[in-house]
Amino acid sequence: MAAEVDVVVDISRLEDVPVWGHMLAAPKFIGFIPSDDCSKPKPDAQGNQLPPKVLPLTGTPLANRLSSSKDKLLLSNLMNSPACSAYFNSDPARAQYYPNSQLQVAVGRQVQYDGADSVISMYDAGMWEDALGATRAKALLSDEYISCHMRNPSNMMLSDINRVIVAESQVQLPATDSYYNRYGKNYIDPSTILHEALHNLTRLDDDDLRKLLGIKLGGNDTSDIGAKMETVGCAPKP
Ligand SMILES: [Zn+2]
Repeated sequence: MAAEVDVVVDISRLEDVPVWGHMLAAPKFIGFIPSDDCSKPKPDAQGNQLPPKVLPLTGTPLANRLSSSKDKLLLSNLMNSPACSAYFNSDPARAQYYPNSQLQVAVGRQVQYDGADSVISMYDAGMWEDALGATRAKALLSDEYISCHMRNPSNMMLSDINRVIVAESQVQLPATDSYYNRYGKNYIDPSTILHEALHNLTRLDDDDLRKLLGIKLGGNDTSDIGAKMETVGCAPKP
């Protein structure tokens, strides 16, 4: 098996921004620098074509980071804590997502993929809110590949050339998939796993999720969502 190259790059995180929402007055991003055929499936070490959704190889830095972050989140049991319960139940919009261990179930159901090797469009990956509409989503997102967002650090948004997308998550049903970026793996924390699970659970994009969680809009990146989960006592610190 090919070893995973862990490229060290001087970048800050954009976090997990690209779920396309209905508040699409202006595009959230303006395109990616094409490089290394990121929209074409890569062969595996045996020369077989990889499927569109690729699981992280066991033992790679990405797989290790994902499992340690998820374990720490679940073992902390903070999603069941009185503080987390009080926070979710303090607002009726939020409270609907708390009973019956929905947070833990969303984390448990989440299927984590290696985004850099997953040559799948945002449309096919289900990364658009219902309110955008399937027709518009298809037109906008059929050529936007997850692999191109994550395969190569040079494939960053043109307007955010020094930033990295850490994760992107499915909000269309079944809303279980999350794609994580090996090049942003150092930014994957327990609260990142919960942040992505919240996309899966609520089927909302970042701004709608911020509103639900009582976070001010307009942050520099979406790490405010994970930070909020730590502050209110639903996720452990890294
Ligand atoms: Zn997000």
